[in-house]
Amino acid sequence: MAADSTPADGPHPDRGPAANPLGHGPVLLLAGARLADGRVADVRISGDRIQAVGAAGSLGPLTAPPGGPTATTGARIDLTGYLLLPAPAEPHAHYDVAFTTAVPKGATTAPETAAALITRATEAALTSLGYGATAQRTHVRIGDTYGLRRLEAVLTARQTLRGLAELQAVAMPGLLTGLAGADGRAQLREALRLGANAVGGCPDLDPDPAGYVQVLLEAAREADCPVDLHTDGADPAALARLAAALAPLRPRVTLGPCSAMGPDGPGLLAAAGIRVVCLPQNGCCTGIGGRPAGLNPALVAGLANARTLPAAGSGSLRDPANPAGRADPLEAAYLLSAGGGMSVESAYDAVANQARAVLGLPPVRVEAGFPAELLAVRGDSLAGALAGGHSRLVVHSGRIVSRTSAVREFADAVTLALPRQGTPG
Ligand SMILES: [Zn+2]
Repeated sequence: MAADSTPADGPHPDRGPAANPLGHGPVLLLAGARLADGRVADVRISGDRIQAVGAAGSLGPLTAPPGGPTATTGARIDLTGYLLLPAPAEPHAHYDVAFTTAVPKGATTAPETAAALITRATEAALTSLGYGATAQRTHVRIGDTYGLRRLEAVLTARQTLRGLAELQAVAMPGLLTGLAGADGRAQLREALRLGANAVGGCPDLDPDPAGYVQVLLEAAREADCPVDLHTDGADPAALARLAAALAPLRPRVTLGPCSAMGPDGPGLLAAAGIRVVCLPQNGCCTGIGGRPAGLNPALVAGLANARTLPAAGSGSLRDPANPAGRADPLEAAYLLSAGGGMSVESAYDAVANQARAVLGLPPVRVEAGFPAELLAVRGDSLAGALAGGHSRLVVHSGRIVSRTSAVREFADAVTLALPRQGTPG
């Protein structure tokens, strides 16, 4: 599919509910799953919603006919040994540069073709989906040497992935003020016309940060879209000015990764109604202040004290800022818990419903009436899942869209002296 085939009227999830591309899907029964509160339950899904949750065995059996389930008969999936959770979301990715460290040194430096860009962006989104993120937001650089090529590739990937995952693109111009910013301003207008979901960038890298924010705000008002900006938050006075400038657009304002934000920052942003995205896995490629983003325990603690839970994302996926970036929301939650001192419940909430809120999406609970956006992960508790849940099943819009099965084998049989405390993920 060519980059220029992206329709200008693509989906705009932040601008209202999108139609379910799969239509009213089959009934799906997720049987015998453990819920986060410890219950073992059956969960029945109809279309893109959870229809009912009941005690194990109370909603079935739902048997498929010979030849397998069809669109009308439904399917029963045995989730014994799995924990069923609201699906994570990825609130801050950079798919336009994902996997760029995978290119061997000395390889040709010819510009990437549109097809190669689309493939890379699509593979990045599928990587995140395989880990469970059914909704994802990626920042995409525009202008300068990039033009709109990378954005066009991401928008094509967004269209290709409809039905598998919801992908949002944040247009990220370079300079926006003065004569030097004329190209950036024109590219920003064109990016929104093409269908970018939000506007962003790095005001701290513009000679006139306040002017940069004003240009973005005007564009966001005109397009009725959210703002999602990069800042390290190191200067308290600058952060206060930024919060004041952005306040009129709340709650559709997000800042990240705020890796250098001081202890007063969280309260300031909470008072201004501005959401924060942390990137515990080592940040992203914007190079603000030359610091890696990484986990900032003071920020996490400050946000919790300010009663504003942060969202957490992955940032880099094997790009120069983090060649080992994995894009696994459970890894981000693990780091928030293990390195940031958050409870496992809050840490998971940061990568799930808090991340969904950044994307403008409604919350998910494993209860009747909620969106069927679910992650089943091998394990018997949330802590166990964060400790290493490799086997996963992902449900988006009521449909199983990904399944990962891990197998562990040992060369010799071993008789354990103690009862087994769980099953390898
Ligand atoms: Zn970033």
